[in-house]
Amino acid sequence: MSEPIKSYSIASVEGIMRNAGLSVFRAEQILTWIYAKAARSYNDMTNIPKVIREQFALAFPLHTPEITTKQTSVDGSRKYLLKYYDDTLVETVGLPSNDGRFTVCASSQSGCSMGCEFCATGKNGLTRSLMPGEIVDQVLAVQKDFGERVTNVVVMGQGEPFANYDATLAALRIMNHPKLLNIGARHITVSTCGIVKGIERFTEEPEQFTLAVSLHAARQEVRDKLMPGVKNQRLGTLRQALERYSNATGRRFSFEYALMDGINDSKEDLESLITYCRRMLCHVNLIPLNEVEGSPFKPVSPQLMGIWRDQLEAAGIPASTRRSRGSDIAGACGQLASAPLRVWQKMG
Ligand code: SAH
Ligand code: SF4
Repeated sequence: MSEPIKSYSIASVEGIMRNAGLSVFRAEQILTWIYAKAARSYNDMTNIPKVIREQFALAFPLHTPEITTKQTSVDGSRKYLLKYYDDTLVETVGLPSNDGRFTVCASSQSGCSMGCEFCATGKNGLTRSLMPGEIVDQVLAVQKDFGERVTNVVVMGQGEPFANYDATLAALRIMNHPKLLNIGARHITVSTCGIVKGIERFTEEPEQFTLAVSLHAARQEVRDKLMPGVKNQRLGTLRQALERYSNATGRRFSFEYALMDGINDSKEDLESLITYCRRMLCHVNLIPLNEVEGSPFKPVSPQLMGIWRDQLEAAGIPASTRRSRGSDIAGACGQLASAPLRVWQKMG
C-alpha cells in the first residue's frame, strides 16, 4: 500500500532510503525539495534520478493542500481554510507583527476529541489526526501567501497535539531542521490541554521546544466541568509531571488561563491558581475568552484581567494578559472550526 510521503518523519525517510539500498543523502535531497522548496511534484526534483522519482511517486505520493478560503483581519492576521488530499479541512492562522516576528498558529488535528466546553474546535469532535507533513504544510502555505519567512510557530490551532504526539514531534523536527524550515526550537510552542503522558515524553525530547499548558482552572471540580476530556488527568498528577519537566529541562513553561465570567474568575479560583503555581517554573498567560457563536461563556472585563495579573505577580508568579488577535475573522484561540457548530450545551 502506498503511504503519502508526508506521513513520514525525517528519520523514516532516511530509513526508506536505506532499505531501498540508496544513499541517505537522497533523503535530505527529497526532504529539501518538499519542505524547503515546497515542491508540488516529484518531477520538480531535478537533481534526483528519474527512476527514483518515478518509484517514489508511486510508493509515496506527494500531496499539497489547497487554500480554499482566506480571511484577513483588521489587525493584519489571516485565517486560511486548507483542504488536504482526502478533503479533510483544517484552519491555520498567520500572525504578522511589527517586532520582526512572524508567527503561524498551526493545527495538529482536524477537529478535536477532547470536548472542552468553551472551544469551538472541541464542539465538532475529531475528524482525523494530521500527518507530520500536513502540519508543516500549514506553515508553508502561510509563508507563501505572505511572501515572508515564518519565524515562530505555535501549535495552538485545532486539535490536541499530544493526542497526535508522534506526528506532531516529527513535524516540529522538520520545522526546526536547519536545511528545512530552520525555525529555532525555542520559537516553536506546543500547547496541550494537559495530557500527562505527553508531557512526560516531551520532557525527554532533546530539542528545546517550548511547552504551554491549558489550565483554565486550578480547582478540580471547575476544571472537570470545563474540560471533561482531561478529567482523568488530575491536577495533582499534572503538577508532578510539570515539576519534573522543569527540573529535567531547566525550562519555564506557560499556563493558559481564559477567564470566563462567573465560571473560573472568583477569588477562590485566583487563590487556587496562586497555590497551584507556587514554586513552579511557570508563567501564567491570561487569555481573554473569545466568544464562540452560541456559547454560554462570556469574557471578563479587562480590569479583572489586570487585577488577576497584578495579584499573580504580587505572589511572585510571572503573569501577562495576552491580547487576542483575529477575533473578527473567528481566527482567535478556540474559534477555529471548519464544520458547522453543534448546539452548545449548558454546563451541568
Ligand atoms: N488543544 C490544545 C491546543 C489548541 S487550543 C490546548 O487545548 O491547549 C489553543 C488554546 O486556545 C488553548 O489554550 C485553549 O484552551 C484556548 N482556547 C480554546 N477555546 C478558547 C476560547 N473560546 N477563548 C480563548 N481561548 C480558547
Ligand atoms: Fe481540543 Fe484544545 Fe479545544 Fe480543548 S481547547 S477542545 S483540547 S483544541
